[in-house]
Amino acid sequence: MSELNKLSITEASKKMQAGEITAVDVSRVCLAEIEKRNKILNAYLEVFSDVLEQANVADEKRAQNKKEGKESHALLGIPFAIKDNILIEGRNVSAASKILENYVASYDATVIKKLKEAGAVFLGRTNMDEFAMGGSTENSAFGPAKNPLDEMRVPGGSSGGSAAAVASYMALGALGTDTGGSIREPASFCGLVGLKPTYGAVSRSGLIAMGSSLDQAGPLAHTVEDAELIFNAIRGRDSFDSTSISEDLYPKHAATKKIGVPRHLLKEGIDQDVLEQFEKSLEALKKSGYEIIDVELPSAPLALAVYYVIMPAEVSANLARFDGVRYGLSLKGDSLFDDYAKTRGEGFGAEARRRIMLGTYVLSSGYYDAYYGKATAARAMLAAEVSDVLKEVDCIATPTTPSPAAKIGEKSDPLAMYLMDIFTVTANLTGNPALSLPMGAVPREGKQLPIGIQLTAAHGDEAGLFKIGKEIEKIAVQ
Ligand code: GLN
Repeated sequence: MSELNKLSITEASKKMQAGEITAVDVSRVCLAEIEKRNKILNAYLEVFSDVLEQANVADEKRAQNKKEGKESHALLGIPFAIKDNILIEGRNVSAASKILENYVASYDATVIKKLKEAGAVFLGRTNMDEFAMGGSTENSAFGPAKNPLDEMRVPGGSSGGSAAAVASYMALGALGTDTGGSIREPASFCGLVGLKPTYGAVSRSGLIAMGSSLDQAGPLAHTVEDAELIFNAIRGRDSFDSTSISEDLYPKHAATKKIGVPRHLLKEGIDQDVLEQFEKSLEALKKSGYEIIDVELPSAPLALAVYYVIMPAEVSANLARFDGVRYGLSLKGDSLFDDYAKTRGEGFGAEARRRIMLGTYVLSSGYYDAYYGKATAARAMLAAEVSDVLKEVDCIATPTTPSPAAKIGEKSDPLAMYLMDIFTVTANLTGNPALSLPMGAVPREGKQLPIGIQLTAAHGDEAGLFKIGKEIEKIAVQ
């Protein structure tokens, strides 16, 4: 009974359906684990006080469904951790920022509405880099989260709290958001599966926006099957998000059994042993019948620079709404301008302010053409190249990150932190779905640290990613 938190979602769901366990049992064990570990891990910013009531409602619903001969949703009664930038009506949501510290959500994000309809249980809201800006969760206004596999190290970010919660078995699954890697990078650092869906596959309504043309919500879980279950529950066209797309609008992708590897990107700045693990995974895939071919993405070396122009531009626009009048913190000065300056100066952390300034700069008259205009042109080129390559192969494979989790405080230089995103930002710029899953571990100071392989597929081809992901899982590269 005590190991119920270690079940996959699929297993827990089966056991609940068979009447062997209840949602209350599973939630209780997660809560006990939270009690044990959250103080140190700082994965949850808040644990909800009504978890057992929610679980009880789920158990009653299952009993009712059984009586009526109705099938229960696979996520009914499954306890989830939710990133603190996803609105749940009536609950605090802060994006780990002082500026929203006491803000209460006035409606449910569409992904939450969908999970509620499925009957999921919400354990709490999880720590993150402020407004999802970062790759380590060290930019949280409420202290860093820790990696459960080595508490000296970061869990990744910005969805680090969600990843730490699942990796430490304080939740069975979690939602994160990904603007440039924030689901995949923490998944990689914590030994989990994480999916950044196709842009538009999942509604952004009710997510606190970072970069609106890049943001997507998605799952963090222990297995590909679990990630698939969660994705299928939250996906779909939504009238509250005009960029969301119905799943049947994508052209069907015929499987080629070919995997493309952009080797020209794997030359520098990547740890040798991460590269060796990656080669091992490719070898294993070859043995299971995949052809590994070299592909060229000539514009990909520009991706990081392009991202760090477009993203701050969007950040500066999105964060303009936090003015001390409409949301959250409101500090009074001597004039209206002073109110703004005080609220924003004290409410936002250093990284948020840095990006607002960068974004304002690249959008300003005279620099717009030189930076923002060029970056959007390069983005279009990159999208065309990725799309061409994906006509020839099922997916493009790279390591998810060039290194395993760093130590807390190790990457105090923002540029060093940005380099971690080198492989992940492309999928956000091009809108393609990308999946990270474990490809073994590498030793650092006596500990084995997990690392991930990233697969990027054609728009709308999450099914293809799950299929290859399951093969890689079976091979289980050590
Ligand atoms: N690490 C990246 C950044 O700092 C990605 C963030 C994200 O995906 N939210 O912007």
